[in-house]
Amino acid sequence: MSAKIIVAGAGHGGIAVAAILAQNGYDVTVYEKEKEGTLGYDWTDIFAPGALKIAGIDMPDEEKYEYKENMTFYSTNMKIGLRQDVSPDQLEIKMERKDIYAHLINHAVNCGVKFVYECKIECPLMAGNRVVGIKTSLGNFYGDLIIDAAGIDSPVRTKLPAVCGIEKIPGDFSQFNVFRAFYNRGTEEEVKDKYKVCLLPGGNTGVGWIAAEEEYSDLLIGLFEKLTDEKVNEIATLFRSENPVLGTELKRGGQYVKIPVRQPLAIMVCDGYAAIGDSAFMTVPVIGSGIANSLRASRMLADTVIADKYNCFCADTLWDYQVKYYKNLGSGLAQLACVKLLLAELKPEELDFMFENGILTGKDLTIGADSTSLVSFINFSPTDMINKAKNVCKDTVLLKKILMTGKRIASVVAVTTTMPRHWNRQSVFRWAKQYKMCFQIK
Ligand SMILES: Cc1cc2nc3c(=O)[nH]c(=O)nc-3n(C[C@H](O)[C@H](O)[C@H](O)COP(=O)(O)OP(=O)(O)OC[C@H]3O[C@@H](n4cnc5c(N)ncnc54)[C@H](O)[C@@H]3O)c2cc1C
Repeated sequence: MSAKIIVAGAGHGGIAVAAILAQNGYDVTVYEKEKEGTLGYDWTDIFAPGALKIAGIDMPDEEKYEYKENMTFYSTNMKIGLRQDVSPDQLEIKMERKDIYAHLINHAVNCGVKFVYECKIECPLMAGNRVVGIKTSLGNFYGDLIIDAAGIDSPVRTKLPAVCGIEKIPGDFSQFNVFRAFYNRGTEEEVKDKYKVCLLPGGNTGVGWIAAEEEYSDLLIGLFEKLTDEKVNEIATLFRSENPVLGTELKRGGQYVKIPVRQPLAIMVCDGYAAIGDSAFMTVPVIGSGIANSLRASRMLADTVIADKYNCFCADTLWDYQVKYYKNLGSGLAQLACVKLLLAELKPEELDFMFENGILTGKDLTIGADSTSLVSFINFSPTDMINKAKNVCKDTVLLKKILMTGKRIASVVAVTTTMPRHWNRQSVFRWAKQYKMCFQIK
């Protein structure tokens, strides 16, 4: 009899791994709280198309996507813009979120995955230390493996007993509280920089973005602090003063949501359980993109499950998924989480200084489809580094913060390199403690 796999929540990585496993003869069911056909937000998203191929999913129809243009980064005051120059082979695609979902779900259904909608998961079901099922609004469901794809606040991960050693909440400076909405275009005039990203918008700790599309202007505000209507209005008004293209008539979206922006989970598996996507905090810290990484992770998880010939699905056999994930993506993302912590510490005037004095350049901010680690986009050429170092030295407080970040990154590199290659509860828990310490804020 084939093993029974439960996917908790129709997250992107969960659907993709469900499809690969169903193709390989597993009995896979996805349990999702929303109604059929209503998944996803009322806005567009950007992701690396190569991740679809890794997950064994075809490209969507050409009319469903377009290639994303370069972004221009601004600091607090929105005065100096640093423009990216992403090479054509590194361009990401932009698609309606609902179309991304439709594409993934159609693929999964064709592979034999079953979906149960309007089924709200309440918590995991345990037998001793093993996750054996999920308690839901439609009753209890049992499986040999529970794949948690229920997002940042997953009711499975957050209700696992402490013995599993898996973090329940993201922690301080680890999630953006986001407002996203499409407004009318405030002006028909051609806009020079169509996609503007503002770091520390209006002096607030977080990011903002305005994208001047043909038929609307797209606004995103993501802050570490709790967002209120007043705060959103304050930042939107500031953006409008510099960007008349951002109108005031709400066209689409307008919701408050959350994005994890932190290092991946220290422990992603336990007996009978594996986390994927936002539930395992797989987004690129600072920018918050998580679709491509979830899809990439789906292949790693599927390979691990398939390699488990006796269907044990215990921490011992599932650990290989975490090892693969950290080797290919997680270590790089953890380094980027250190940069995010620097952003959280910077004063607006320090960020302005970095923009004005070439400490940050357009090249450094050229984040392409494969930019999942520091080395993939920060420009480390020796002459460039010397010039940057000279300029940083002019501001001793900033210098100290950058040196501290360098030290933090070095610790992360050292710790992730020593992650146990094989599961041993004691060594894994000891390693996880060291890893978490790298991100502590004093
Ligand atoms: C405003 C915004 C903009 C973003 N833009 C981008 C972008 O441009 N590019 C990009 O790559 N990423 C972007 N992201 C991040 C991206 O959405 C996630 O990283 C990505 O979707 C992976 O998350 P996920 O699929 O694992 O989880 P989710 O998208 O959170 O999906 C979880 C699923 O589980 C279901 N679920 C939750 N709780 C329960 C429950 N109790 N019972 C049953 N089902 C449940 C949910 O309904 C949902 O279907 C953005 C996020 C936000 C909020």
